[in-house]
Amino acid sequence: MNENKIVTRMAPSPTGKFHIGSVRTTLFNYLFARQHKGTFIIRSEDTDKERSKQEYEDNMLDSLKWLGLDFDEFYRQSERTAIYQKHIKQLISSGHAYEAEPSKEDSQQAVIRFKNPNKKISFKDLILGDIEFDTTELGDFVIARTINLPVYHLTVVVDDGLMGVTHIIRGQEHINNTSRQILILEALGFSRPQYAHIPLIMSPRGGKLSKRDPEVVPTLEYKDKGILPEALINFMAFIGWNPGDEREILSKEELIKEFDLNKVQKGGGVFNIEKLKWINKQYLNRYSLDEFENYLKPLEVEFQKIPNFNQEIFKKIIPIIKERVDDFDGVREMIEKNELGYYFNSPELNKEKISWKENPAETTQKHLEKVSQLIENYSAEWNNDALKELIFPYAEQEGKGDVLWPLRYALSGQEKSPDPFTLLFVLGKKESLSRIQKARELL
Ligand code: GLU
Repeated sequence: MNENKIVTRMAPSPTGKFHIGSVRTTLFNYLFARQHKGTFIIRSEDTDKERSKQEYEDNMLDSLKWLGLDFDEFYRQSERTAIYQKHIKQLISSGHAYEAEPSKEDSQQAVIRFKNPNKKISFKDLILGDIEFDTTELGDFVIARTINLPVYHLTVVVDDGLMGVTHIIRGQEHINNTSRQILILEALGFSRPQYAHIPLIMSPRGGKLSKRDPEVVPTLEYKDKGILPEALINFMAFIGWNPGDEREILSKEELIKEFDLNKVQKGGGVFNIEKLKWINKQYLNRYSLDEFENYLKPLEVEFQKIPNFNQEIFKKIIPIIKERVDDFDGVREMIEKNELGYYFNSPELNKEKISWKENPAETTQKHLEKVSQLIENYSAEWNNDALKELIFPYAEQEGKGDVLWPLRYALSGQEKSPDPFTLLFVLGKKESLSRIQKARELL
């Protein structure tokens, strides 16, 4: 047995979908355990029968799977009632707990209370430093409703003790629970773990990030937004921690190496969604075109809604989409704002917009005619660079705006679009010529 083996745990209560704040607590526990070749435990704290649901536990497990945060052991508190019962009995027989008469305001039933030794508890939190509590004010607190219904403080201590948890890494909202838990663990004779209470996640609008913030959604909704799991992990790791240098993009493997629990900040870190999108973009930039096409698969139905959508053109505009977007929201916006429709459909043109600035129609006619001829007579390879070589010298000679604006507008019908060579490439010779012809007829 390796006595120094590090054991961490994430102990979510499955009373709702696994939301984004829980990801960071999971991640810090995961990184710390993996860094020390320790054990990472997931414990489903499902003792609240009314509010705990299997679907929420499944949602938590699906979220962790998507993120690639694997664990070594899994427990469910609802399956451990006999274990808690044994420890409650042990506390009663050793004089550390007693069955109390129902108090008037409390409940109908007798409850089991912990006999508070009323002492000072101090510990060194790995993040917050020295902490001292006087437990006197806690009174004889409840550890179980009945012998079969333990409350959170009891189950957590029994489990952490039996599972050999060495480091309790959890949110700062739990700091006040620590003194009760230390009293119980001392009474049960468990050794004391180290505590690391991590800072709150702050809202970009100020205050603690809460359910009212639009960023706080179930973790898997980030998947539906086209956020990559490696980007989300990278982003969450940097809330309240950083590697101490300029680096902002770190893979999970690098994080395992670099993470330092002692360097987690005391104060809250802000959840900045723009930063998340930026990080996502950095990961997308590393994708090949094939990988990016595969990434877009979940949006297939939305692409299909574009009139005359077809795969041939779609393949050609993948680099254009790739350059433009950070996530699925960006792609959806391109579809909604009709920034993709004109690749598949000849656009409506506005006569007034065809010419560059104040150029008379005849000048524009002349340029479009010349460009048409160049294209008509061209039979070598059809790609951006070759098309640029074909047309650019004429544009330089006649004025770039004068030639390229009408060409680009004739092809796209948009105030803004990629350059005309890219458009020619995507549309192909026949369609390009027909669109230029349409513009000339309008003039
Ligand atoms: N089940 C508790 C929660 O969801 C766990 C707290 C702890 O980590 O001790 O907050």
